[in-house]
Amino acid sequence: MKLAKTVAEVKEAVRQWKKEGLSIGLVPTMGYLHEGHKCLIDRAVKENDRVIVSDFVNPIQFGPKEDLASYPRDIEADCKLCEDSGADIVFNPEVEEMYAENFTTFVDTTGVTEELCGKSRPTHFRGVCTVVSKLFNISEADRAYFGQKDAQQLAVIRRMVRDLNMNIEIIGCPIIREKDGLAKSSRNTYLSKEEREAALVLSKAINAGKKMIEEGERDGDKVLSEMRKIVEQEKLARIDYIEMVKWDSIEIHHKVDQPVLVAMAVFIGKTRLIDNFIWE
Ligand code: AMP
Repeated sequence: MKLAKTVAEVKEAVRQWKKEGLSIGLVPTMGYLHEGHKCLIDRAVKENDRVIVSDFVNPIQFGPKEDLASYPRDIEADCKLCEDSGADIVFNPEVEEMYAENFTTFVDTTGVTEELCGKSRPTHFRGVCTVVSKLFNISEADRAYFGQKDAQQLAVIRRMVRDLNMNIEIIGCPIIREKDGLAKSSRNTYLSKEEREAALVLSKAINAGKKMIEEGERDGDKVLSEMRKIVEQEKLARIDYIEMVKWDSIEIHHKVDQPVLVAMAVFIGKTRLIDNFIWE
């Protein structure tokens, strides 16, 4: 496995692979890899001849008051996980390699980015779409793998690929959780022991909402109000949002009468965690 620091190194490998007629899978990540990421990499390895894992904390998807500086990093451990999983390249560029001083081109997907995380992080998806477009161009991948953990991101990327006729298949993968239910996240490392305990309130609310719908409840507001009640019982939790939206368009929706995404962002202390479920 190769650790590539430059765009040119990746492009050179891709050129060779294309000449040999090999298929390429891409797994975009911000590093500090865990089993959620591993699940995407394993699937990419299974479905493609060659796999590139990008490992890049993308500054332009962070807001000015967010955790860019403190975001956890461990490239050595990441490389080991990627090598053990059978990836071929870990692409870990410096910021200057991805964004030249006079970088002025952005990809802005509207509509699907307005609700949920787009509301509290207004420049986030513009940063995501821009870096993901660059990674698609650099890797010339046939398939790219994204987790349902970031469900709105998955919907936004699908929309971008459709709208801009990008030649790539987007594969969504299920949420991987800790044994006690907490969705795995690089940001879980921020949690103190007490906060880690309190963070269970997210998956508790997710399970309760899912159960209500499975048992026949079709009034979205009733489901959300039960979920909010559960989260509000936890002293260390502060709700950013708990909403139901149409799964394809990410528009607020009140009835469970079509595929819906029920999603939440909750601060546990200073750490903002997300979780969701999709009902189809
Ligand atoms: P990140 O490094 O947090 O930007 O995540 C990179 C990719 O891994 C995204 O597509 C995420 O949705 C996915 N991912 C992160 N955590 C999980 C998880 N617990 N289960 C499944 N996918 C995940």
